[in-house]
Parts: sequence; C-alpha cells; structure tokens
Amino acid sequence: MDLVTKDLLINFLFILLALCLMQILYMIKYAYRLESVRDWTLSLFPIVSLILCMIFPVYTNENFIWDLRWIPFILGGLYGGYKLGYLLIILTLIIRFLQGGDGFYTSLVTFTIMGFVIVFVSKFYSKILLKHKVVLNLVLTFIGLSFTLLLAKVQFNYEISIAFWLNLVIIHMIAMSIATLLWEGIKTNFQVLQKLIKAEKLQTVSHLAASISHEVRNPLTAARGFIQLLSDDISEETRKQYSDIALKELDRATEVINDYLTFAKPTPDREEKVNISEEIQHAVNVVIPLATMNGVEIKLSLLEHDHFTKGERKKFQQCLINIFKNGIESMKTNGELTITQSYNDGMIKIDIQDEGVGMTQEQIDRLGEPYFTTKEKGTGLGMMVSFSIIKSMHGTIQVSSEYSRGTCFTLILPSFQNESFIA
Ligand code: ADP
Ligand code: MG
Repeated sequence: MDLVTKDLLINFLFILLALCLMQILYMIKYAYRLESVRDWTLSLFPIVSLILCMIFPVYTNENFIWDLRWIPFILGGLYGGYKLGYLLIILTLIIRFLQGGDGFYTSLVTFTIMGFVIVFVSKFYSKILLKHKVVLNLVLTFIGLSFTLLLAKVQFNYEISIAFWLNLVIIHMIAMSIATLLWEGIKTNFQVLQKLIKAEKLQTVSHLAASISHEVRNPLTAARGFIQLLSDDISEETRKQYSDIALKELDRATEVINDYLTFAKPTPDREEKVNISEEIQHAVNVVIPLATMNGVEIKLSLLEHDHFTKGERKKFQQCLINIFKNGIESMKTNGELTITQSYNDGMIKIDIQDEGVGMTQEQIDRLGEPYFTTKEKGTGLGMMVSFSIIKSMHGTIQVSSEYSRGTCFTLILPSFQNESFIA
C-alpha cells in the first residue's frame, strides 16, 4: 500500500471517529437527560471530520492537496440543510485558503458550485429511499472529484496518474457508502427512540385499559342487579334504597372512567400550577384497578394543606403513574404500596415504597437508561420519561432498594405557597 492510500485511510478514520462520537453523544443525551444536547449537535460530525481531514491531508505537490473532505461536505449539506451547507462551504474555503497554493482557486470554484447544488438537492433528500441516497451520494462524490481534477488540469495543467486517480475514486466511493449507511443508522436509531418516548404514555394507557374495564364492569353489574330488583313488588322504602345503591355504583363507574380519561387524553404542553396532593390522588385513582387486579393494597397518606409546584399537570401524573405501576408490578403476590407525602423546608417529598422484588445496585445504576427493562413485556422507557419529567420540574428522584425486599422511590419537588405562586 502506498503512502497516499495510507493517508487517505487515516482520513477515513476521522470520518468514522466523528460518527462514533455522534452516536455516543446521543446515547449520553438520553441516559443522562442532557436537554442541552439538541439536534444541531448532529452538525458537529461533518464539521469535525472536515476540519480533521483537511488538517491531515495527502500532498501531491505544493499546490494540490487531496483528502476525503468531499464526504463530510456532501453528507453535512444533504442532512444538515442550507445553514450547515453554507457553513461548510465557508469553512472549507477558509481552511483551504490558509493552506495556500494554487489549488485554492480550484476549490473555490468546485466547492462553491457543488455546495449550492448540494443545498438545493438537500430539500428532497430526506424523502428518497436509502438505496437512492447511497447512489446519489456516490454520484455527487464522483462529480465533485472529477470536476476538481478537470479544473486543475485546465487551469494549471496539473497531471495525475490513472493509478492515483483510481485509488482516489475507489477510496472515496467505499468511504462514502459506509459513512452514508452509518449516518442513516444512527439517525434512524434516534428517530425510533424519540417516537417510542412519545408512545410511552400510550403504552401505559393501553396497559391500564384492561384493569379499568374490569373495574367498571363490577359496579355496572351491581347497578344492573339493583335496577332489576326495582321491578319486583317491593315497598317504597326498599325501592328508594335500591335505586340509591344503583346510582352510587353508576357514579363509581363514571369516576373510574373519568380519572382514566383525564390521564389518557392528550393535552397541550404548557407550564401550570400543579396541586401536588390532588395529582397524587388522581394518579392513585387511575392505578387502583391495576392494584386490585394484582392483589396490591395502596396506602395513601397526603398532607392536609395543599402544596403547589410548577410543571405540566399531565406529565406529572404520567410520571407518578409510571412509578406506582412499577411498584405494583414488582410485587408478584400481594403486598402494600405505601405512598407518603411530606413537607420539609420548602420542598415536598413523596415516598413511594413497595414490597416487591427490589433491585440490585447494578439495576439501580441503569435505571432511567433507554430500553433498560427486566420485564418480558417491558419497554424500559417509563423511568427514563419519569426522570426527565421530574428534572423539568426542578425536582429530583432518589431510589433506595433492597434486593427481594422492596424499593422506595423518593420524589423531591420545590413547593410554592398558594399566595406566593406566580404562574
Ligand atoms: P418497564 O416497566 O417497561 O420495564 P421502566 O423504565 O418503568 O420500564 O422500568 C425499568 C426497570 O426498572 C424495570 O424493568 C425494573 O427492572 C426496574 N424497576 C423499576 N421500578 C422498580 C420497582 N419499584 N421495583 C423493582 N424494580 C423496578
Ligand atoms: Mg414501567
């Protein structure tokens, strides 16, 4: 292998390295709930690769420099859209200018023209099939390279051997195909994760549906029975008694459905005043049918006075329901789920203690990581979502667990007195 090929392969390493970093960055974003890591961080990959490729290039003579910069340049423009596309054009030209030599003028023409073509194509890029994307990227790379070479030949009478040319083209083609596939893989991975996070609540809603319908059927059957009795020959007093019972049972069914529906219904995301005890009570009402079905008793002790915090009500409910549900699910045979609310020094504490299977230290450490689950039908997203909801409410979650004894989740949230709360 000649020196040029080796240098180009090192360039390829820079491209792979940056892609690797991108994948790690996204994993960290979700595992550690770093909201500051936004989608634009994807653009770090082409920028870093482009700079590294251009700093460590292959020199053929003092005027011409070869490297794999076309790859991050094309991929960045196509995936990142016009902003990143223009930024990459400027960046390439500045670095190339600083490197000196006549080749700058060739780059000035080729990268500017190709840059605009890429930015234009990027509008349609996301809609086409993967195989077409690979072909398109290969064609763009080929055109870019040939264009540079042709211009260099016409402008400066620059000659290169066929062998070198082939070397350059083949390495570019292989590198481009691999980089495109990897980028698509990483992108799809995170799109799927984001979709699943959105669908997490839906999963809980459908899980609870079975226990809810069970819980509704009982009062309905009872009400039906009493209504049937009304047509018998009975005294006025008994009739009144029966219809009272039937009405109470129907009210109970309505209540169960209402609590469930307020949780299940999607609502717009906005910050509001959250009455903590009220939300705990609502969430408990939603999971009571599930608890009953699993033979779990819920013991609830709430503070007498109302305490408020800032956040999204539905999200807070979702978080509580996730944690209650995990507690219930951790108890295979009967048990108690004790929920205690307390107040200390401007903070509200909610302890959720179960008598379930508990967790090992390793499991506690992994809690909240995307897809971490020990359940056959688990999603491993519930805790991740719960952690990020509490974080967005400026609170914290502490976990203490003893293997095969039980687990205690402690939520700590800032509390605002009713009067001093400014929405
Ligand atoms: P899922 O419930 O779908 O498995 P979660 O994110 O809600 O996903 O929980 C992740 C994992 O954390 C569970 O699979 C379980 O191993 C563990 N876990 C969470 N809560 C408890 C608990 N109260 N007791 C024991 N293990 C728990
Ligand atoms: Mg769960």
